[in-house]
Amino acid sequence: MSHKTKIAIVGGGVAGSTTALHLAELGLEVSLFEKQSSISSGPPYCHLHAGGNLYREISDQQCLTLLKQSIDFVRTYPFCIDYRPTVIAVPLTDKLSPNALLPRLKLLKKAYEGMIEEDKENKVLGESEFYYKLYEKDDIEALKNLAIQKNPSSLDEWMLPAIQHLDLNKLQFPLVLVQEYGINLFRYASGLELALDKFTNVHYHGNTTVQNIQNKSDRWEVTYATDNRVEKETFDYLINATGYKTGSIDDMLDVRSEKMVEFKASYVSHWEQKEDILFPEIIIHGERGTPKGMGQLTPYPAGYFQLHGMTEDITLYKDGLVSSSNESSQAKLNGHFITKLDKQWEKEEVEMRTHKAIEHLANYLPSFREANVGAKPLFGAQQIPGDDPTLRVAEVSFPSKNYARCEIVKVSSSLDMANRIIKNLIELQHIKPSLAKRVSLNYLDEHSIAQHAQTIAKLRDYPKVLANRNVEALA
Ligand SMILES: Cc1cc2nc3c(=O)[nH]c(=O)nc-3n(C[C@H](O)[C@H](O)[C@H](O)COP(=O)(O)OP(=O)(O)OC[C@H]3O[C@@H](n4cnc5c(N)ncnc54)[C@H](O)[C@@H]3O)c2cc1C
Repeated sequence: MSHKTKIAIVGGGVAGSTTALHLAELGLEVSLFEKQSSISSGPPYCHLHAGGNLYREISDQQCLTLLKQSIDFVRTYPFCIDYRPTVIAVPLTDKLSPNALLPRLKLLKKAYEGMIEEDKENKVLGESEFYYKLYEKDDIEALKNLAIQKNPSSLDEWMLPAIQHLDLNKLQFPLVLVQEYGINLFRYASGLELALDKFTNVHYHGNTTVQNIQNKSDRWEVTYATDNRVEKETFDYLINATGYKTGSIDDMLDVRSEKMVEFKASYVSHWEQKEDILFPEIIIHGERGTPKGMGQLTPYPAGYFQLHGMTEDITLYKDGLVSSSNESSQAKLNGHFITKLDKQWEKEEVEMRTHKAIEHLANYLPSFREANVGAKPLFGAQQIPGDDPTLRVAEVSFPSKNYARCEIVKVSSSLDMANRIIKNLIELQHIKPSLAKRVSLNYLDEHSIAQHAQTIAKLRDYPKVLANRNVEALA
């Protein structure tokens, strides 16, 4: 056993940075290689998915796992959580009734209750009895003329802005309010960069591309390039956390794997007229991939909203989902996606898709038509292991000795993923079993996280207010 086991982590997204932090805490020598200039520069994330209520099509088991993983995520990274709830509405045109959501909501509430009984520190989504609340038409009539509160705290106060802006004639009842919170990706990136910087046993190589990896006498020889300088270094254990590029590392190692890659985009809008109102997240359910695909309005401060529309001319693309082949474990996206990922978007497409997203949401929130393009899209390609495109919970696999391949689909799965890697390191006797423990980032200070998050947003050419949260703590 040795604390000097050398670990190479390729990719500094949520998977790679979370793993780096956990292994650094265990005293291992960690080298983290990231092609971009900062942590978590890959696809965006704005929903915690504490219960998976945005996905009607997935199994109850996946929802329960997402609930547990999200609670762990909030406990570890509270500084990046936006503690505002979500309103879920089902349109009249939808073939399912909102009552179809109830069995799962009850199941999740009970599971949350059980988790709090097990450990009271798990109470990060408020009281379990208020995990969700249903609003029938009469409840809404009774509320709708009340004044909107500047700082909503009760469930009814959160519901008001939704009730007053939704076209209730187009929706089925009840509406649901659920404690599904947001995640701020700029604050995650900030917190993790600040945390990793404190470890002398973490060697962070930003702006560095791993070009090749070879197995040499049971160790991994990694060739990497920073600017024009190419270097080689040998490691005991390799972690492939390259997101949608995990197949390209498999190809270097001659390891076969089956996976999908999906390109998706969300759009940033600005609703100047509502800068002073705090909205909950608003979800309008709909069948994925059809013109009535789910609409998601995710609030940021000062009238900014991130928008998803699960139709082919908004978030999804006709040719956006591709699979690996017999020849290569890397699923290949069409050239126009690579241009967006590696270079930039055409201005016309940003305008067109953002306005389509605004129109999609305005079908149910008529005054949202006033909104405009607020910034460039938040977009990216993500990996889905296997061949089921609806899979939402996945962590890590170990295709060969001393090789871990991370394939999370939701960021909250990253802690289970890191723990499974630690277990594998214990099995392989790189670390002692007694060393595994929960990571705490209590030493980070709010001012530094906030400042650095704004710097990251600005560097990436987004308004720095996107690095702020609406609600900083549980009411
Ligand atoms: C539009 C959209 C919205 C989403 N919304 C949510 C959401 O609300 N909630 C949620 O939980 N999830 C969401 N997701 C999914 C989420 O973004 C991903 O699951 C998550 O970011 C994956 O993290 P990762 O660390 O595995 O990969 P990535 O973030 O892609 O990280 C991989 C990193 O590896 C680096 N890299 C690749 N190859 C190399 C190399 N050869 N050398 C060095 N570095 C390399 C890349 O630069 C990248 O930074 C969304 C995805 C999309 C596309």
